[in-house]
Amino acid sequence: MSVMVERIREAARRYLEDGAVTCVIGYERGPRGNVRPAFVYEADDVDRLVWGADCSLDLVTYVHNYKHSPRRGAPVPKVAVVARPCDARAINLLVYEQQIRRENIKVIGLTCAGTEILGQPRLACQFCRERVPVLYDVLIGSDEQIQVPTARDDYADIVEMENRTPSERLAYWAAEFDRCIRCYACRQACPGCYCFECVAEQVDPHWTSIALELPEKHFFHIMRAFHLAGRCVGCDACEAVCPMDIPLSKLNRKLAKEVEALFGYRTGDDPEVAPPLATFDPEERLRL
Ligand code: SF4
Ligand code: SF4
Repeated sequence: MSVMVERIREAARRYLEDGAVTCVIGYERGPRGNVRPAFVYEADDVDRLVWGADCSLDLVTYVHNYKHSPRRGAPVPKVAVVARPCDARAINLLVYEQQIRRENIKVIGLTCAGTEILGQPRLACQFCRERVPVLYDVLIGSDEQIQVPTARDDYADIVEMENRTPSERLAYWAAEFDRCIRCYACRQACPGCYCFECVAEQVDPHWTSIALELPEKHFFHIMRAFHLAGRCVGCDACEAVCPMDIPLSKLNRKLAKEVEALFGYRTGDDPEVAPPLATFDPEERLRL
């Protein structure tokens, strides 16, 4: 067992034994060895928790709505969540958007050297500029393991796409979107997607049909990308869960790049700063 796994279990045990939280959300291995989310309610069960390069889901999606009690008058349940650096920025986003209250969440922050899918390093992780979470209540990772990259360009791989002509880009994305089966796994895995009713499935008013045709798929992906513009933390959970291997990271990180260039804003770096598309300033002028 690695030192990090040992320390994650220690932190989880302490929170559960102290009664600081009722549940610890982390990673565990399923019967076939695959990584899946774990919900640990008893200190005796913390040995289920694991950590490894294949822990590519964003667990913050499970703390959506931790601001209300499920029963009137009862206290809001408190949870601890295992969070990589991208996940920690998602917590900041959700705190700003009042989806969670910081006092209800204990953050077991992990230093992260990048995760992988099917043994391949994930694209977003290769270009990620951070290895230490921006917020945590307990930090897991030794000094030797923390290697903060210097002056990395998170978007270096996007340039190749930008160098294509608009019609080449359109043809590329039409082909990719056409493979989408509209399972919505990408949306469900995303910490930034928490609407009770998604525009893609809303019937009153009715925005788009549920047809599996390219225009509807195109609408879903462009709508979702713009809803995530300035809110995506680049965790790549959407791409990790996509059964059709659609390169969603390229789309999300292109928009993140534009938002950072236009507004100097990177999602979740600071819980006090509003995502640019969530604010309106009459003096604002488009810088072209
Ligand atoms: S759009 Fe994808 S990469 Fe961005 S926050 Fe959501 S799941 Fe993570
Ligand atoms: S997970 Fe993949 S196939 Fe499913 S809706 Fe998202 S992009 Fe389409």
